[in-house]
Order: sequence, then structure tokens, then C-alpha cells
Amino acid sequence: MSRDQIEAHLKFAAELGVTGISRDAAWRVRRPPTLADGESTPAAPLPDDATTPAAMPVASAAPPAPVVPVTLSMSRADALSLIKSDIGPECTRCKLHALGRTHVVFGVGNPEARLMFVGEAPGGDEDIQGVPFVGRAGQLLTKIIEAIDLTREDVYIANVIKCRPPQNRNPEPDEVERCEPFLFRQIDAVQPQVIVALGKFAAQTLLRTVEPISKLRGRVFDYRGVRLIPTFHPAYLLRNPASKREVWEDMKRVKRLLAEERSPAQ
Ligand code: SF4
Repeated sequence: MSRDQIEAHLKFAAELGVTGISRDAAWRVRRPPTLADGESTPAAPLPDDATTPAAMPVASAAPPAPVVPVTLSMSRADALSLIKSDIGPECTRCKLHALGRTHVVFGVGNPEARLMFVGEAPGGDEDIQGVPFVGRAGQLLTKIIEAIDLTREDVYIANVIKCRPPQNRNPEPDEVERCEPFLFRQIDAVQPQVIVALGKFAAQTLLRTVEPISKLRGRVFDYRGVRLIPTFHPAYLLRNPASKREVWEDMKRVKRLLAEERSPAQ
């Protein structure tokens, strides 16, 4: 990392209110993987630790059980490749394929990631490059990841919707219905220990709720046995930089949960 990059990183960390940086790199190490049990667990808030605000009931049922393509002998990378090939580069399962899409934007990152970020849908830069979170919001997400001493290569990043909606409008219910099973399969393939849902749309889709993101963030949920933390979308932070501090609080909780998963007995 260059001196300029280090200075930019420290400046961003100061904006977030970071007061210290861990020198302990060991917490990045993933626990030996456990096999998915394939059972569907209702999305529900967890009590978490003493710093988590009081949990409130989620106004919905569990997400539908996805098709799990992973076999016991299949690596996570192979499982992701299989899902990507199932979607195909010319997917026509919903109307977005005919509304100006350039690329199907699948997902990027470490197939063995302990931490997974889920966003809404590709924007213009992502549509052109075929990679999620590469525009301005993506650059901010990269800084957020680095603020907890990880890199984009350590995590896995995907969206609920794989094709750009025209004029970046909100995805419509029929589009979500056709595309979300692929996200569920990606989550099953990666088997992260923590999921961060970026923004209202991702959080509401994964948790099957209509609660606003302002009520969802600050809490820890169970998504099919995985800790899920909703937070603000980086694009929202670009418009509302004062909310970076709340995102930093969420990311500190993410880091703490990852550390707990690494050392459950501590
Ligand atoms: S959004 Fe999803 S379901 Fe719709 S065309 Fe793209 S990949 Fe297929």
C-alpha cells in the first residue's frame, strides 16, 4: 500500500470515528468450514451482546429455502461457478434483460469469505464492468471494509438483483422473485459467518420484512443460522456522510462477531 493510500485510509477512518486499529491479523483466519444442514431458519433478531439494542420482532416469515447446489465434496468456489453458469451470461428470466442491461453482475470476492456483503442491484459502472460495487459507492464500500482491517479479497460481495434496473430504479417484485434464488444459493455456497445487508432493499429481501432500514440497523438478526447485520448502503452515505458514524458502529459489531466466531470459547 502506498503512502497516499495509507493517508487516505487513515483520513477515512478518522471520519468514521475510528479510535484505534488492531494489529492482530489472526482474526481474519476462517474457522474450518462446517457442512450446511440445509434447514431453513426463520429470520429473527438475536439478543447479541450487551451493546446490541433491544431486539424487536421481524414482521415476516423465513426466506424460502433455496436450491442448494453444493454437494459435500464440492468446494465453495466450484459451487459458485456452478451457480454462475446456471444464471448464464444472457439470462432472460426477468424483464431486466431487455431493459438496457450490459452484463449480468454475479458476485466477486473470496469464495471462502467469513464476511459477505449483499447490496441491491448493479449501477452504471457495475453494469459496464460486470463487477459489483466498483463505482463511487463501491469505492466507499472498499474503505469501509478496510476500516475493519480486511480487504475486498477477504470478503464476498453480491447483489440481490444481478442486472441493472433502468435509471437505477428500485427492483420490482417480479424481478426480485426471479433473481433472489441465485443470491440465496450464493450465500449457501460461501457459508459466511456474518452477512452485512447494505441498505433497505437487501435487508428487507433477506429478512422478509417491510421495516425501514432506520429500524433494522443497529440490530443483529439470524439469517438461516448466519448473523446478519443491516446497515446503510454506501450510496446513501455518499448523500448523507453524517451517517458514516452509525455504519462504523455496525462494522465494529461485525468485527466483534467475526472475532467471536473465530474464538467461540473466549
Ligand atoms: S435480474 Fe436476475 S433473473 Fe433478471 S435477467 Fe438478470 S440475472 Fe436474470
